[in-house]
Amino acid sequence: MSYLSLKDIIKIYPNGFHAVHNFNLDVEKGEFIVFVGPSGCGKSTTLRMIAGLENISKGDLFINDVRANDKGPREREIAMVFQSYALYPQMSVYDNLAFGLTLQGVDEDVIEERVLKTAKILGLTDYLDRKPRALSGGQRQRVAVGRAIIRKVGVFLMDEPLSNLDAKQRVTMRSEITQIHRETGATTIYVTHDQTEAMTMADRIVVMKDGYIQQIGTPYDLYFKPVNMFVAGFIGEPPMNLLRTKLEGSCVTIGTNKLDLTKIIDAATLKKYDGKELVFGFRPEAVKLENEENNDPSYEISCTSELTELLGDNTNVYVNIEGVQAILKIDPHDTPETDIDIKFYIPYKNVYLFDKESEEVIPTQFSVK
Ligand code: ATP
Repeated sequence: MSYLSLKDIIKIYPNGFHAVHNFNLDVEKGEFIVFVGPSGCGKSTTLRMIAGLENISKGDLFINDVRANDKGPREREIAMVFQSYALYPQMSVYDNLAFGLTLQGVDEDVIEERVLKTAKILGLTDYLDRKPRALSGGQRQRVAVGRAIIRKVGVFLMDEPLSNLDAKQRVTMRSEITQIHRETGATTIYVTHDQTEAMTMADRIVVMKDGYIQQIGTPYDLYFKPVNMFVAGFIGEPPMNLLRTKLEGSCVTIGTNKLDLTKIIDAATLKKYDGKELVFGFRPEAVKLENEENNDPSYEISCTSELTELLGDNTNVYVNIEGVQAILKIDPHDTPETDIDIKFYIPYKNVYLFDKESEEVIPTQFSVK
């Protein structure tokens, strides 16, 4: 069995609100799992149920093969890092790090050795005498992480640990936490609403919406093989263009562009969806401004370039396809002028189709397997 296992976990709050529905997940020892999703989707609730801070309404939680539903937080061999850091303001960094071990009655010598080692991993050696108020946000965050890793528990739970940091510190701490995970090999569950954090840190990501798991997969899977429109729109920045259209005969129309779907889906699928509304998806970065028909067969789209944003490493071009808006992410050297007619090309292999009603993906012949 996996190291951490959630079987059909359900959370219904006392006021009757159903916050988590049939949550199933098996986590292997040493994995870094990220729960991601918009505010209110049930990420923290699920994390708190694992921590024992919230009771489980239904279902089973196993930690290291032992059912843990009825165990208290302290018995679960889990350490949690909160968004608020929860440091003791009157204690030095050394004492904040040592506190949990002191409570457990660990020998002073052992405590000192572990505090010094943890401080070294986290670059806090020079700050051990300071109080939290004399630290930067990033340093406080490191102390909070240090307090968790010093305990050498089985599972680390982190709830939006970087949300109080500025953008630059977040990027630094992101890679530091990944590095610490590599060094400690600790099984980690990390909650965030930031898809970039999820993509850069996770071994596997759990995408949630309205209390339901939408998809579980590696960052690669979620980016290239989204199972539905929600995941397709949530992962990736700017988000995937999702354009509503209708299948008529074998074609869909985007603006005035007629696109022949026989190029990418088989006859049976075409028949199944004939006359139905579809959503035509493509990532902003998956287009070309030059037609490379010979080595990369593509759909050609005529549109007007309305606004361009030069971001340095790329340009976002906001285009209007006869009333339909889309974003293209292109090489900055190819930035077009605004208010002119342009053409762009979507390689067949970069097209995603979705059933408008169920919002589920319709595999094409080019779908990444
Ligand atoms: P955020 O990113 O905003 O923290 P989240 O995905 O972590 O969101 P949760 O905090 O798990 O979401 O909340 C899930 C849902 O449960 C929300 O709609 C929230 O309002 C609701 N909820 C949370 N705590 C309670 C409670 N004690 N009683 C009733 N409903 C609650």
